[in-house]
Amino acid sequence: MLFEEKIPEKLIRNDGLRLDGRKIDELRPIKFEVGVLSQADGSAYVEQGRNKIIAAVYGPRELHPKHLALQDRALLRCLYRMATFSVSERKSPAPSRREAELSTIITQALQPAIFLEYYPRTSIDVYIEIIEADGGTRCASINAASLALADAGIPLRDLVAACAVGKADGQIILDLNDLEDKYGEADMPMAMLYRRGDVTLLQMDGQFTIDEFNKALELGKTGISKIYQLQKETLRNKYLSIRDEVADESEVRIEISKEVEEDE
Ligand code: ADP
Repeated sequence: MLFEEKIPEKLIRNDGLRLDGRKIDELRPIKFEVGVLSQADGSAYVEQGRNKIIAAVYGPRELHPKHLALQDRALLRCLYRMATFSVSERKSPAPSRREAELSTIITQALQPAIFLEYYPRTSIDVYIEIIEADGGTRCASINAASLALADAGIPLRDLVAACAVGKADGQIILDLNDLEDKYGEADMPMAMLYRRGDVTLLQMDGQFTIDEFNKALELGKTGISKIYQLQKETLRNKYLSIRDEVADESEVRIEISKEVEEDE
C-alpha cells in the first residue's frame, strides 16, 4: 500500500511554535556517541530529531586502487548511504544520484579539517549509513563523520559541525525536519570549522531576500556553535571515561600487588 503524506496547511502554528513544538530558533534533540563500533578505527552514532545515523572511519590505510593515490596527501573518501528502511517508502538499495552527490559534498565539507598531508599515498574512508531519515541528513552525517574522524585519532584542524536553516511561513527557522524541508520556502544546509570560522558547506534550495539570507546565516552559526560544543563534550567525556577506567585498573593492580607482598 502506498503511504500518502498529508500536506500540512501551515508549518508554524498560531502560537508561534513549529508543528513538532519547537521554537523557530530551536534545534531538534541531539544525541552523540563515539566508539560505537569495535571493528572500525573510529565511529560515531548520531540522533538529530528522528534522524539516526552511524559513521565509521577506516584509515589512514593502504589505498586501493593504487592509481588513485595522491603523492602529497591522503585521499578522503566518504560514502553516504540510506538504508532501504530509512524512509516511509522502501528506498531502492541501488546507489542513487542523490547519494553520490551527498557523498561528494560531505567529503568536501570535511576535507579542510583534516591534516591529509600527514599521510601521503593513503586513504581515509568514511562510511555513513542513514538508518532513519527525517530531513537534514547531510548535516547530521557531517556531524557524525567529524566525530568518527576524531574518534579514529586522525589529526584535525577543528571539528566540523553542520546544521540547516530555512524558511517556513515567512519565518527563518533552524534545523529543519523532513516536513519543513519538503514544504518550507527555503532550505540552506551549512557546515563550519566553527573555531576557525571557515564555512565548508553552504547550499541553498528555495529563495531568501538578502536580509533573510543574512539572518539565516547568523541563526545557522548559532545552531552550529551549540552542535560544536556538544561534539567537544562528547569527545571529552569519552577520554575522561577512559582515564577513569585506567585509573580504576591501576588501583586494582596496586591493591593486588600489595596483597601479593603481604602474602610473601
Ligand atoms: P537532507 O536529508 O540533507 O535534508 P534532502 O533535502 O535531499 O537531504 O532530503 C530531505 C529529506 O527527504 C531526507 O532527510 C529524507 O527524510 C527524505 N528523503 C530523501 N530521499 C528519500 C527517498 N528516496 N524516499 C523518501 N524520502 C526521502
